[in-house]
Amino acid sequence: MNVPSVTTDPLLTPSQFLKGIGPVKAELLAKLDLHYARDFIFNFPRAYQDMSELRTVDQLEEGKLASVAGVIEEVDLRNVGTGKSLLGVLIKQGASYLRCLWFNQPYLRGKFQSGRRILISGEPKQQGIRWEMVHPKYELLADDDDVPAGRILPVYSLTEGLNQTQMRRIMAGVVEAYAPLVEDVFPDEFLDTHQLWPIRAALPQMHLPRDQASLEQARRRFIYQELFILQLALAIRKWRLTHHRRAPALPTSARIDARITRLFPFELTTEQRIAIDQIAADMGREVPMNRLLQGDVGSGKTVVAMYAMLLAVAHGKQAALMAPTEVLARQHVQTLTTALEASKVRIGLLVGSLTPAERKKTLDALAAGELDILVGTHAVTHALNQSGAAKDQKPLDGLSDALEGGRFARLGLVVIDEQHKFGVNQRAALKRAGIDPHYLVMTATPIPRTMTMTMFGDLDVSTIRSAPPGRQKIHTYLAEDGQRSRWWNFFRQKIAEGRQGYVIVPLVEETEAVEAASVQQTLEVLQRGELMGHRLAALHGRMTPIEKESAMEAFRRGRVQVLVSTSVVEVGVDVPNATLMTIEGGERFGLAQLHQLRGRISRGSHPGYLCVYANPSTDEAQRRLDAFTRSNDGFELAELDFQLRGPGDLFGTRQHGLPPLRIADLSRDVEIVEEARSDAQTSIAADPDLKDPAYARLKRMVLIRYGEALELGDVG
Ligand code: ADP
Ligand code: MG
Repeated sequence: MNVPSVTTDPLLTPSQFLKGIGPVKAELLAKLDLHYARDFIFNFPRAYQDMSELRTVDQLEEGKLASVAGVIEEVDLRNVGTGKSLLGVLIKQGASYLRCLWFNQPYLRGKFQSGRRILISGEPKQQGIRWEMVHPKYELLADDDDVPAGRILPVYSLTEGLNQTQMRRIMAGVVEAYAPLVEDVFPDEFLDTHQLWPIRAALPQMHLPRDQASLEQARRRFIYQELFILQLALAIRKWRLTHHRRAPALPTSARIDARITRLFPFELTTEQRIAIDQIAADMGREVPMNRLLQGDVGSGKTVVAMYAMLLAVAHGKQAALMAPTEVLARQHVQTLTTALEASKVRIGLLVGSLTPAERKKTLDALAAGELDILVGTHAVTHALNQSGAAKDQKPLDGLSDALEGGRFARLGLVVIDEQHKFGVNQRAALKRAGIDPHYLVMTATPIPRTMTMTMFGDLDVSTIRSAPPGRQKIHTYLAEDGQRSRWWNFFRQKIAEGRQGYVIVPLVEETEAVEAASVQQTLEVLQRGELMGHRLAALHGRMTPIEKESAMEAFRRGRVQVLVSTSVVEVGVDVPNATLMTIEGGERFGLAQLHQLRGRISRGSHPGYLCVYANPSTDEAQRRLDAFTRSNDGFELAELDFQLRGPGDLFGTRQHGLPPLRIADLSRDVEIVEEARSDAQTSIAADPDLKDPAYARLKRMVLIRYGEALELGDVG
C-alpha cells in the first residue's frame, strides 16, 4: 500500500500507533504485510482452533467430537501389507493417554516430534482401556501457546519474534477499535435481500467467532463479496463484448448446412447438433461469438469446429484454427484435407518449423485472400503476451503472429483447440490486435463447473457429454510391478491381432534432454525385451517437428506398431487403431492428464486396454488413481480432481490471467459461486455500467481488482 498523503482516514493509521504495537513490533508486522489499521482488519485467520469442545481425556465420550491438548509421547510408523502403512502417535495428557492413527499417510511422520505440544480434534473411540482417534485434525502448538477452553480461537500467520498469543492480542485490539469504522461496499437494501451480514457485524466474527454458526455466516459474507465482485467484472466484460463490438454476421441456412454436413463421414450426434446450432446462431449475429465448447476426450469436438470454419468459408471469410502442438496442427490439416478433398476450400499450415520462404508464401497467400483456412500452433502465453517477458523462450510461432499482425485478408472466425489454459488475458490480447472475428474455444478435457463459471465466465458454453455411438469400452488396470509379464503377454497378443499401442513415460524432469533419454532408454529396454521383434518408434520434445511428424505419420499408417512417448501424445492425437497403452509412473500424472492419455485409445471399433504402473506415495495420489480406474467419465473426474487438488494448481486462477481469489475456494464454495454469478448478471442487465450511486463502492472495487485483467478500464 502507498503511504497516504492525508491521514484523516483512521483506517490508515500506521501500525506503530495502534494500541499495543509500537515501533519494534511494527517492523515485525510489516513482514506480514500489515502496515495500517485496515490491513489488520482484513488479515483473516488462516485457521481456527475450536476450543469449545476442549476436553480432558477422562471426559471423552464414545463417538462425540472433542478436542484434546497434550504432548506427543511416541511416534511409530509401521508397514502393514503391500504399500500400506499405519502411523501411530501417542499423546500424553497428565496421567492419561490418547492414541491417534493415520492409515497410508506415511509422509505425515515428519510432522510429529516427541515432546511437542499438540492439539487434536476428532471422534474418540474406546479401545480396551485406551482412547483412540482415527485421522483426527491436529495443530502443533508452541510451548507458550495458551489454550483457553470454551472459544473458537483464530490462528494467524506469524513471523519470527511474534507468537500466536501476542498476535491474537494485537489483532483483537485493532479489530475491536477499528472494525466499527469500516464502510460497507453493499447498500443496506442489498444486504437485506441477499441475507448477508453487514461488514461491521461480520468482521469481528471472522476474528473471534462466537460459535461455528456465526463464523459460517461471517465467512459467507466475505466469500460472497469476493465472488460477486469477480462476477460483476465478468458480466461487465461480457456485456461490453456484445454491445461495443461488431463482427460479420455469418448465418447458416438449409443449403449451407446440407453442403457442410455432407462432407462428414458420419451422422452427427444430438449433442454435436445442438452445439452446432448454438454456434451457428452466435455466428449469425453481428456481434462476436465468444463461446466455449467443452466435451470429454473423444466426444467429437473437431467436427463441430469444422462446421464453424466451413460456415465462415461459405460466407467468403477466412478461419483460423489454433492447436497446442505442431503434431496436432498437422493432424488437423490432414483431417481437413481428407474431408475437403472434393471442395474448393484452400487450407494452409503455419507452424514454427516452416522455412522462411514457406512461411512467406503462406502469409502472402493469406493476405491475398488465397487461403480459406489457416491451421497453426499457439505457443500458449508468450506468443500472445505483449509484455514480451518471455523473449528467451521459443520464437513467436506463425499463427499467433499472423493474427496479431492482422495478416488475414478477411478473417471471420478463430478456433482455439484443446485448451484449458487459454486464459482471459490471452483472449484479451487477441482482441487488442484490433480484429473482430468470432471466437470458439475448445477445451482439452471437461472443466469443473465452478471453473467454467469463473475463469471462462465471460464466455457462453456448449457442452458435449457423451461419446459418438459405437465406442468400445476401455479397460483400465492399476498394476503392481509383479504383474508386468502378464500384461506384456496380453499386449503382444493384441499387437499380433493387428492393434497398435502407446507406452507413456513420465516427465521426470522438465528438460528435453532428460525427457529424450528416458524415452530412448525405455524404447531400448522394450526392444531388447518384452517387445523384441516389434516395430517401435520414439516421440519426445527433443525431436524436431519434422522428426515428430514422420514418427506420427509412420504410426498412423501402421508401419510403427508401438509409440514410446512422453505425454506429448496426451492432447488430441487421433489414431483409431491404437487401442493399447502402458503408462509408467502413473502417480506423476494429474487426473485430467491421465484421462486425456486414456482418450487416445478409445477412438475406434476395438476395445481399449490401459495398464497404469504407479507407486503412489501420498494419500491423494492413491485416491486419484483409484478414481481413475473406477470412472471413465471426464466430467466426473474433473470435479474429483478439483476436490482432491483444490484450486490453485492445474486450474489456478493466476494461470488464467486473473488475480488469485483470497478467501473463496472454487472447489468448496460451489453454491456461493452460482448465487453470486446469477446476482451479478441480474445487476449488470439492469445497470450495465453500474451507474447507480449505491453501487459506487462496489464498482470501484471491481475496477481496482479486475479492471486491468479484464480490460474494463473505461467502464466509467
Ligand atoms: P475430441 O473431442 O477429443 O477432439 P475428436 O473430434 O478427435 O474428439 O473425435 C474423436 C473421434 O470420433 C474421431 O475419430 C472422429 O472422427 C469420431 N467422431 C466424431 N463424431 C462422430 C460421430 N458423430 N459419429 C461417429 N464418429 C465420430
Ligand atoms: Mg480434439
